[in-house]
Amino acid sequence: AARLKTRILEINRQSARFFYSCLISPQGKPALDYLHERGLNDKTIRRFGLGFAPQSWDALTRHLKAQGFSEQEMLAASVVARGRKGGVYDQFRGRVMFPIIDIRGNVIAFGGRVMEGSGPKYLNSPDTPVFKKSRNLFALNIAKSTKEERLLLAEGYMDVIALHQAGFENAVATLGTALTDEQARLMSQYAKQIIIAYDSDGPGQTATKRAINIFNEIGLQVKVLSMQGAKDPDEFIKKFGRDRFRLLIEGSANALEFELQKIRSQFDLSTSDGKVAYLKEFASYIAGIKNPIERDVYIARTAGELEVGREAIASQVDYIIRRRT
Ligand code: ATP
Ligand code: MN
Ligand code: MN
Ligand code: MN
Repeated sequence: AARLKTRILEINRQSARFFYSCLISPQGKPALDYLHERGLNDKTIRRFGLGFAPQSWDALTRHLKAQGFSEQEMLAASVVARGRKGGVYDQFRGRVMFPIIDIRGNVIAFGGRVMEGSGPKYLNSPDTPVFKKSRNLFALNIAKSTKEERLLLAEGYMDVIALHQAGFENAVATLGTALTDEQARLMSQYAKQIIIAYDSDGPGQTATKRAINIFNEIGLQVKVLSMQGAKDPDEFIKKFGRDRFRLLIEGSANALEFELQKIRSQFDLSTSDGKVAYLKEFASYIAGIKNPIERDVYIARTAGELEVGREAIASQVDYIIRRRT
């Protein structure tokens, strides 16, 4: 089994090299243009070992066979799949390739993106003897050595790569799935604080809530970045630049502020009715906080922002607390 794992890792490394050489060859021009158009420079492309899987059923298969790898081994690595007639065919075809590299520097899997047209946007390697999706994070191999006390957690490959290129080399991503407990523990080995920078859409926000709970449970400090005018960090940096992103990091909210923002967004604070309704919800939420100083900080802030008397909110909160106990 140890021997098979070694062979799989060799196959993965050779496949990554093959995809890279295809990317910089004439046939890879559309893919290279695509990556350039998305704002990546050649240094970044090399650094992440990005590649191109040709639109072919057997380009990689033939390449690996010539290097002495068997179909069995290729199947075990999941770089090929078993065809109906018993042969094998290339798993990734006509896709931009993102090698997934573990903290030891091994290529353990791939993500592949279509440039346009049909099929799922991203195709990821399934779990193999060398790859457990739930236990790895994209770019942790680089992020772990930045000596930052915090890690930035994004959704996608492109987010992480754009972030690194913009100088945020502490960015990592889960691999196309929801954050797992194991991934959170892995992050806790390298950082005290996590800044969640998921997509600003509905699914991203739902995933943020889940991630906050997971990080809280293992005792990691969490902050949440709130992006407006862009759907993800990649798009944000392209539109507004790295300095604005740095401001987002500095202004990122703690978990409680994140919750309050969610509640607040459900009310129209330009009307009196909206303000009253929000303050009721606010008081009910704040009453759940054990620390009186913490309660007071948020009451004072909200009172100022909504131009409502602090005493009025505080007494409402006290009333709820007394009723609950
Ligand atoms: P891009 O900017 O290239 O369009 P993205 O990262 O913004 O991609 P999202 O749709 O936000 O794309 O998805 C986030 C991540 O989820 C992707 O990077 C990928 O890892 C994973 N993912 C997205 N679509 C799929 C899919 N169809 N199958 C498997 N994983 C996917
Ligand atoms: Mn998304
Ligand atoms: Mn994106
Ligand atoms: Mn996205």
